[in-house]
Amino acid sequence: MDTRFFVIWMEEITAAVRAGRDHLTRLDAAIGDADHGTNLDRGFAAVAEALAARPPDTPGGVLVLAGSTLIRKVGGASGPLYGTAFRDMGKALGDAADVSAAELASALEAGLAGVRRLGGAEEGDKTMVDALAPAARAMARTVDAGGDPEEAFAAAAAAAEEGAKATVPLVARKGRASYLGARSAGHEDPGAASTALIVGALRAVATR
Ligand code: ADP
Ligand code: MG
Ligand code: MG
Repeated sequence: MDTRFFVIWMEEITAAVRAGRDHLTRLDAAIGDADHGTNLDRGFAAVAEALAARPPDTPGGVLVLAGSTLIRKVGGASGPLYGTAFRDMGKALGDAADVSAAELASALEAGLAGVRRLGGAEEGDKTMVDALAPAARAMARTVDAGGDPEEAFAAAAAAAEEGAKATVPLVARKGRASYLGARSAGHEDPGAASTALIVGALRAVATR
């Protein structure tokens, strides 16, 4: 995967977040403060602008610029968390001009580690980690088994979607939803849902 692949991934995310904005905000209205869709829509629109204004020349550069833009533009928990995820993924890719599926799988693990370090959430806490962790595992497993990038991204996307759906019965232990205690159960976590969109966009790039 070259620089162009990563730029297109960001474009796919921007489009998916725009299309899913109201749904994400409705999920956040149930257990948060009803801004997750607008937060991410604003953030990824800014990412698209930054990439157009200062086109990076490596895959890592694309992800680092996306991450730093999200940190700068998105208030709320998800900005720093996604910002750190993309920035740490980008750092993991270094200066490489081309990235293998195995390298992207390790970068995704680095992004997950960044989210965990910053937010302190474990799987089962009803956060984006519940979608990101199974996605990273599925991608690594598929690559290790000799799968091509398309298969690895499809497996990751399916795992993220499943992980997001599996947050419905959970009681939130991190983030704003945790203030609701047991009343947070019965709703999908908005950040897990947006992670499914972000990983789903990777599958969309590989198959388009
Ligand atoms: P805010 O809650 O500040 O309004 P958003 O609505 O944009 O921010 O994002 C909320 C999402 O952020 C949650 O649904 C959850 O997935 C994620 N989140 C919140 N806190 C944490 C955390 N400590 N670790 C991982 N993810 C978190
Ligand atoms: Mg919110
Ligand atoms: Mg908020």
